Amino acid sequence: MGKQIAIDGPAGAGKSTIAKLLSKKKGFIYVDTGAMYRAIALFILESKVPFDDEGAVEKAIPGADVRLKYIDEKQCVLLNGKDVTDRLRTEEVGNVASKVSAYPSVRSCLTQLQRRTAEENDVVMDGRDIGTVILPNAPLKVFLTASVSVRAKRRFLELTEKGEECDIKKIEADIRERDERDMTRETAPLKQAEDAILLDSSDMSIDEVVSRLLELCGERGL
Ligand code: C5P
Repeated sequence: MGKQIAIDGPAGAGKSTIAKLLSKKKGFIYVDTGAMYRAIALFILESKVPFDDEGAVEKAIPGADVRLKYIDEKQCVLLNGKDVTDRLRTEEVGNVASKVSAYPSVRSCLTQLQRRTAEENDVVMDGRDIGTVILPNAPLKVFLTASVSVRAKRRFLELTEKGEECDIKKIEADIRERDERDMTRETAPLKQAEDAILLDSSDMSIDEVVSRLLELCGERGL
């Protein structure tokens, strides 16, 4: 079993930025589980399976082979042998990922891959259910959050920097809707694990959050 750091929290809280920096400092691999759900969403979109139809998605899932590959410490997601990493971070794929991630058939196929990755490597893993379901024994669990308006602003900047046209009001509404869906689904809902440390990054810089996490790592012998 590798060393484990679990970071959960809502959309746009800065999990991936923080987890990437922390993993570099610690020499662990960064596992972005949201990207795996996004790969399944891309598969469903490309296969033209109606994503609101849980039965149809369940039937299609065995046709999706999701794997991770690390090139220069960067996580690449392979979908049926093809590197799809650069196609995962659109709003469309994110919205479909948020819908299909509620289906138990989708979750169980990715749960195995996530646990296996953490068995074979030292990991900083981020997602929604890492501390509660995937790695319940992780010695450091963090629940990273920020206000909805701060998260919407961050997402807006991320998308405009990439040249995507977007509307901040729509992003904020999407974030609220996604939070609601993630928190109220029956299987592995988004919630803070009892033994997780709550960190609200609304008024913290990236460096401040990373420093705090490094301190916590020290305290936990990581
Ligand atoms: O974090 P990211 O926005 O890339 O995740 C996309 C979607 O995948 C989320 O909205 C969430 O519904 C789902 N997800 C999940 N469990 C995880 C990671 C992501 O349900 N561990």
